[in-house]
Amino acid sequence: MSAPVPPLDLNDGNTIPQLGFGVFRVPAADTERVVGIALGAGYRAIDTAAMYGNEAGVGAAVRASGLDRRSVSVTTKLWNDDHGHDAALRAFERSQRRLGLDHVDLYLIHWPMPSLGLYVETWKALIELRAAGRARSIGVSNFEVEHLERIIHESGVVPAVNQIELNPRLQQRRLRDFHAAHGIVTEAWSPLARGDLFAEPTITRIAARHERTPAQVVLRWHIQLSNVVIPKSATPSRIEENARIFDFELDADEMRAIEALEAGPGI
Ligand code: NDP
Repeated sequence: MSAPVPPLDLNDGNTIPQLGFGVFRVPAADTERVVGIALGAGYRAIDTAAMYGNEAGVGAAVRASGLDRRSVSVTTKLWNDDHGHDAALRAFERSQRRLGLDHVDLYLIHWPMPSLGLYVETWKALIELRAAGRARSIGVSNFEVEHLERIIHESGVVPAVNQIELNPRLQQRRLRDFHAAHGIVTEAWSPLARGDLFAEPTITRIAARHERTPAQVVLRWHIQLSNVVIPKSATPSRIEENARIFDFELDADEMRAIEALEAGPGI
C-alpha cells in the first residue's frame, strides 16, 4: 500500500482526496473490477460521469470494498443534454440510482454548453441538491472564467471545484489564478496528457534522477501545484504506480523545468 492520499479543503467545509481514479473509457463490464483494484491500491476518490456509462460499476465497487462510505469520495457529472432546472434534478436521480449510493460526494456540470444558455439555471438546481444533502459538494467542469463569473454573480455560490484539462503542455495559468483568487480547487483531467509526455526529455531526465517513472513525475508536478489529479488506467501495475507519488518531491528547479514545457495559453 502506498502512502495515504492527502485531502484538500473545499470552500464548503468538505475535503477531497488529492488523488482520484478516473474511469472515462473503462468499459461498463470491467468497471467494478478495475475500481476495486484502485480502492485496494489506496485511491479514495473515483471520478465518473453519466456520459461514461459506468456509474453502476463504480457504485458496486464502492459498496463491495467494505470501506467506510465516508472514506471514499465519488464524483459524477451531469451530461450536456440534461441542462435546465428540472432536467438536472432528474439527471441527478438517474445517476444516484445507477450508483446505488445514498449520496454523491461531488456533482459537476460536465460542460457549460453556452449555446444552450442554461448553465446558470442548471447550477441553481445543483445548489438545491447540495442543500438537500444529496450532493455533498457541487462544482463544474470545463468552465472558462466568464462562465465561472456568471454563476458566481447570479447565484452567490462559488463552485467547490472546476475540473479542466491540465497537463505540463496546457497549464491553464489564467484559470488557475482565477480559481486561487476565489477558493475553487483545480482538478486536472487527462493529467497525464494520455501518455503524450512520457518521452519528453525534461520529464525522462527528472524521472531518472528520482528513479521514478515519467507518469509519477507528471502526477507529482500536479500535486505540488495543489491540483487534484484523476489519472485513468485499466492496468493494475500502472494503477499502483500512479498512486506512489506521495513519497518523493520535485525541487524548485525541476518544477520550473516542467513549467517551461507549456505549449499554449489555455482557456
Ligand atoms: P490520462 O491522462 O489519465 O491518461 C490515461 C492513459 O494513460 C490511458 O491510456 C492509460 O493506459 C495511460 N496510462 C495511465 N497511467 C500510465 C502509466 N503509469 N504509464 C503509462 N501509461 C499510463 O487521461 P484520461 O483522458 O483518461 O483522463 C483521466 C480522467 O479524467 C478520465 O478517466 C476522466 O475521469 C477525466 N476526464 C474528464 C473530462 C471532462 O470533460 N471533465 C474529459 C476527459 C477525462 P491504460 O489504461 O491502458 O493503462
